[in-house]
Amino acid sequence: MAEHVVIVGSGPAGWASAIYTARASLKPLLFEGAITEENRQMGTLPLGQLALTTEVENYPGFPVANLEGYLEAALPQDRREYMPPHRGHGVSGPELMELMRQQAVNFGTRVITDDIVDIDLGRHPFVLKSLEGQTVEALAVIIATGARANYLGLPSEDRFKNMGVSACAVCDGALPRFRNKPLVVIGGGDSAMEEAGYLTKFASTVYLVHRRDSFRASKIMADRALANPKIHVKWNSTVDEVLGDDKQGVTGVRLRSTVDKNKTEELEASGYFCAIGHTPNTDFLKGQLELTDKKYIQWTTPHRTYTNVEGVFAAGDVADDYYRQAITAAGSGCQAALDAERWLALKGFH
Ligand code: NAP
Repeated sequence: MAEHVVIVGSGPAGWASAIYTARASLKPLLFEGAITEENRQMGTLPLGQLALTTEVENYPGFPVANLEGYLEAALPQDRREYMPPHRGHGVSGPELMELMRQQAVNFGTRVITDDIVDIDLGRHPFVLKSLEGQTVEALAVIIATGARANYLGLPSEDRFKNMGVSACAVCDGALPRFRNKPLVVIGGGDSAMEEAGYLTKFASTVYLVHRRDSFRASKIMADRALANPKIHVKWNSTVDEVLGDDKQGVTGVRLRSTVDKNKTEELEASGYFCAIGHTPNTDFLKGQLELTDKKYIQWTTPHRTYTNVEGVFAAGDVADDYYRQAITAAGSGCQAALDAERWLALKGFH
């Protein structure tokens, strides 16, 4: 029998839509993603990008400094094993995601730890196939697969992935190879500021390499980075090549000036962290939904989460390259749930 609602994705948009559809008695089935090495490398493991971040200071509702007792009461022990230890300042990304997941489970969401790799939106009920070979039919689908970090696309980045090249300081920054060594972060947005600040806990120096002479990041985060004595900004620079060898991995980078293309400089570094924006996780749709020119799902109606296929809704970063915040993703997850619920009722599916 077809599921009423299948949700694909397990960031704030996925869990918010699960909480709302579960409370509307739609018994949602949510595919949270698979735990695979490929997903780890791409940054697409279950619980999405927030699971790869540290403190979340701007998600409303967590003003207290120490949540230890609250987390203890809210989450079962087996889920706490997935989380880094609570560090006593507000809520962290992994904690927030576990709390959202648990809330969705508490209301009856069924969670499958697998990727959806194929989807047929050309027939109804829609058909979804998972990496492990499961096939499910769905009357309505909410796509909430988010986005993943970009790399510059240099062959040398590929060569040294897992050997000093990363797009996630929080996941990898504490590794021994990065301790007390110079590190390089690429980008000028909030992610780059956050990664650079985080890495100063481990690194001797963090070179923040940006292609222009001013940051795109919010003022508070840019000011924090500029005030950090361990962060040295390399303005008007891009990375030509990540330097290294098969034994040591990354040993440095060669920078090229964006002002004078003939000017290069080599920096010694044991790590290279790319923080230059994101790509939406829409490949598995194989052209069946209308996308924007940046490959985000196109919402087709103002203030609605409708896509160009009736019964398919999109929520969160997979459809939003503008706000891209946990709170806006959760908000659009709620909207997608309400849109799906109303659409199912309109079509007489109960
Ligand atoms: P972003 O704002 O799009 O910034 C990407 C940065 O990478 C830009 O500075 C861009 O340079 C640079 N860049 C892009 N392609 C490049 C290339 N090929 N070579 C060199 N540099 C390149 O992305 P983001 O920093 O990931 O932030 C995304 C969203 O998440 C934003 O809305 C941000 O506010 C939010 N965010 C918030 C927090 C927080 O509040 N704690 C933390 C992280 C992210 P140009 O500036 O020259 O274009």
